[in-house]
Order: sequence, then C-alpha cells, then structure tokens
Amino acid sequence: MSEHTKTDGLPQQCVPVEEKLAKGKIACNACPVLCQISEGRTGACDRYANQAGVLIRVDPVVFLRRSPDGAGAQLVAFDTNHEFASDLLQSNEVFVTGVGSSTTYPDYKPAPFIVSSQVAGVDMVTVVTEGIFSYCSLKVKIDTDRFLGAEQANVRCEGEVVGHITTAEYGSQMLSLGGVHHLTGGSKKEGRITMDMMMALGNKQAVEFMIDGGSRLVIQAGKAPVVNGVEEQRMRVGCGSAAIGIFAKQFCGVADEVVVVDDHITGVLTEHQAGRCLDMRPSGIQMNGRKSTPGRYFQVANSGTGWGGTDIADPLSIIEGWDADRAWPGLRLLMTSTTGEHASWYVLDDGLKPLEQAMPPEVREVVERIGENCEPSLSTVLFLGGAGGSLRAGVTENPVLLTRAIKKAWVNVTCGGAPAYVWPGGGITVMVDVMRMPDNSFGTVPTPAIVAPIEFSMSMDNYRALGGHMAHVRTLEEALRRGAGHNDGASLSLQWQTAHPANVWPLGSPPMLG
Ligand code: SF4
Repeated sequence: MSEHTKTDGLPQQCVPVEEKLAKGKIACNACPVLCQISEGRTGACDRYANQAGVLIRVDPVVFLRRSPDGAGAQLVAFDTNHEFASDLLQSNEVFVTGVGSSTTYPDYKPAPFIVSSQVAGVDMVTVVTEGIFSYCSLKVKIDTDRFLGAEQANVRCEGEVVGHITTAEYGSQMLSLGGVHHLTGGSKKEGRITMDMMMALGNKQAVEFMIDGGSRLVIQAGKAPVVNGVEEQRMRVGCGSAAIGIFAKQFCGVADEVVVVDDHITGVLTEHQAGRCLDMRPSGIQMNGRKSTPGRYFQVANSGTGWGGTDIADPLSIIEGWDADRAWPGLRLLMTSTTGEHASWYVLDDGLKPLEQAMPPEVREVVERIGENCEPSLSTVLFLGGAGGSLRAGVTENPVLLTRAIKKAWVNVTCGGAPAYVWPGGGITVMVDVMRMPDNSFGTVPTPAIVAPIEFSMSMDNYRALGGHMAHVRTLEEALRRGAGHNDGASLSLQWQTAHPANVWPLGSPPMLG
C-alpha cells in the first residue's frame, strides 16, 4: 500500500475540510467526491483507505523495468530505509507509470511524480499522473462475421444502454462503449453501470452485453468474442469475392463451380473475373440477391449467425435455380463460408438438382487452406480519453504549451508505459490498447469517471521551455525514497513489472530529444 497525506500532495494548511472532519475520520481530496473515511474503511472508490488514521493508497504504484530478465510483478517496500539494487536505479532502464500514482486534483497541484533521467547523454523528464477522465470511451473491435446488431443499435449492459454499434470493418464489427453521455448524461444507474463496465473491460475482464435486436455478446480484451454462447474461432479470410479471387487457382480443376457465402459479398467462381481469367466454363447457376458486378452478389440472405454471417443454415437456399442451357448433370459444386467453418459438396443430378455428397480430399484440402488463412478471432479494446485541465496543469503552469509540444512531437505520451496515439486537432485526445497496459491500470471515482494512468516524457530543456514545475523534478532515486509529490518521508509501496515486450521503450525515442 502507498501512503498519501490527506492533502494528497498539498501542505496541510491548504485543506480547510480538515476542520470539519468528524472524530476518527480523515479526508481524501484526490477527486471531487472528497470522502471522509473512517478508520479501517476505504473511500468510495476503494482506492484509498484510512489505516490507523493515515490515508493510504490501497494499490501500489507500478514501475516498469526494461530488463528482459525482470521476472513478472514484484512488490517492493517504498520507503526511505529500503536499499534498492543498483540495477533498479539505472534510470533509463526504469519507467515510472501513472498506475497507482494518484491525481493532481484539484487541478493546480504538480503531478505526483516528475522524474528526471538521462538517455543517451540527454537529460529527460517524465511527468506521471493518474487522470480522472469523464470524457472517455472504449472503442471495441470484434472479429466476427456473425450479425451482432444493426448499425447504431443500442448496446446494453445489465439492462442499461452503455454504447452502440458503429461500422462494420473488414471481418470485424466495431462498437463504441461508454462515453460522457452514458457516464453523466443519463440516470445514476446508467452512469454507474457504464463506469463499472468500462473499468472491467479496461482491466481485461469479461463483460456480457445484449444488443437491441441483435446478439448476446461476451467481450474480454485479447480473447475471442462469445456470440450467443458460441466462442468465435476464426476471422474471415476476406469477403466472398476476395476468397474466390485468392483461392481461384486452387478451386479450378477440383470443382466446376464454387460459391463463397458471405453476408457482405457472396462470390461465384465461374462468373467472377478470377474464374473467367482461368477460362472456367459458366455453370449456369442463378443466385438470389442483388448482383453487384459479375460473380459478386449483395444481400443473398439476411444477416445472422449462420453461414458467412447470414441467417441461412441450408446454403442451397440462396440458389434460385440453374440455366438448363448451361448447367450439366454431374456438375461439381462447392459451397463454403468465408472461414471454411461451413462447407458442403454437391453434384447435379440429371434433373440439375444438387445432391450432397462426401467431399473429395482434394476439395477438403482447399477448404482447410481457407481456414488456415483465417486469423484467430479476438476482441480488441482501445481506451480513448481526453486529457483535460487537471492533467495538463499538473505538468505545466501554462497548459496550452504542453498541448502544442505534444503536437510538435516533443513529448512522448504513454498510458501505463504503453504507446498512446494522440489524435490530431485540438486538445490531448489519446487512444491506447488496454492489452499493452499493466493489469488493473483502470480505476473509477463515483462522480462517475474513469481513472487511467498517463505519462509525458520529454527532454529537460523542453520541459523547462513549456513552463514545467521544475522545483518538483526528482531523480528516480529521490522519487523511490520520497514517494509521490511533496510527501517527504511517506511510506509508499510500489510494484515492479516487466515492460510489455511489444511496447517501444517510452524514454529515448528521437523526437523527444529534439
Ligand atoms: S472517491 Fe476515492 S479518490 Fe475520490 S475522494 Fe473518495 S477515496 Fe478519494
């Protein structure tokens, strides 16, 4: 546990609320709720507690080690007497994250950790804080062809609307979850459920959703989505037309006609340009749906959880008939979905009626090749947040200079050490993959809002130039011994974790050295 004074970094005389405290209670002012916490209890967010009259932070500050041999998470005492191994104090190999670091509320306090380091002979600074985000949401990508719901359909969690379906992308369906209107613009219950849902998803936990007019869905970052109780396996190789084109040469010779069933574009090999270029004989197949271009059909069926994201269980139902002048008895027909999970083999009888037969091994091989080319289905969760006043004031007394410096790429922005994409345009709107962040990076406060880590790394010269809180810059060793902010002598605890191997090390990328 880490300790904070009741002022969370301010001199005590700045906190008049102390005078009104009931006996045995202590105040937390790390967010606008201003809890008064009895001994042995936690505040409303469960992140701070009263332990024997001292306000403590329940969860540790997370420090990242660059060293590849740093084995997993390790809790270490955070106090003046602790002897840290010399390799832990190599400041360019250690990164202080915002996870568990505390906030800058009420907005004008310097960030709890402003840590200096040296990288390639250049003096660097990392400003570390936890942001309280009201303007934030999750953008979720679900790798599936199955019908989840109509575009703009409401997404519900525990009965409350917490987001909506947005666009379909290539093999995926996008959701927008959370956001300020669900957090604060609806009922208290809607705000609370939205907040809890966002924290759980951000912390890589599973959450169940119902989509109006659509599917029941279980999402967990980095795991396969579960649609109506069935875990997704494969992301489609492409639309039906793409699958025809990719595998046309392998189909040619082992089948006379191939239909790749897809909710978007169903492909028909002998009509498709790929089949024509291979001089395939037209089969005379007549398809349902709306013909887009030769061999490419829209709307062959309704959307659903059947073949290729349609609602069909019998693939023959999308064939209207056969042109008797072109089709022939004995014609060999393969019907498959875009993932190869559904596939059937037919031969036309004398009346040009398709009869299902055992699939020949050479055809099965191509179907398996389709499956082999499908990537595993995943749920991807990106946190999108706007870093507002309190955050920026914790970095500099003139916040617009930070915004400008970020836009000039003088400042590297990370969230829990994970690279953050900063949107162009006004403000500091960041987007980060929660899977790249340390576990349990997200918290909440009951305003309601999401608490998330954010770090700004830059050269010391740039920090000085943008009006940084220079008097509060600490070396890593000082930060380790003194704890957050002005809490000299406070007993804090921290957790060492190994940096995510896919993340660029936050210190030392060339633009910040400019
Ligand atoms: S909700 Fe949490 S951070 Fe906010 S005042 Fe209460 S204990 Fe402190």
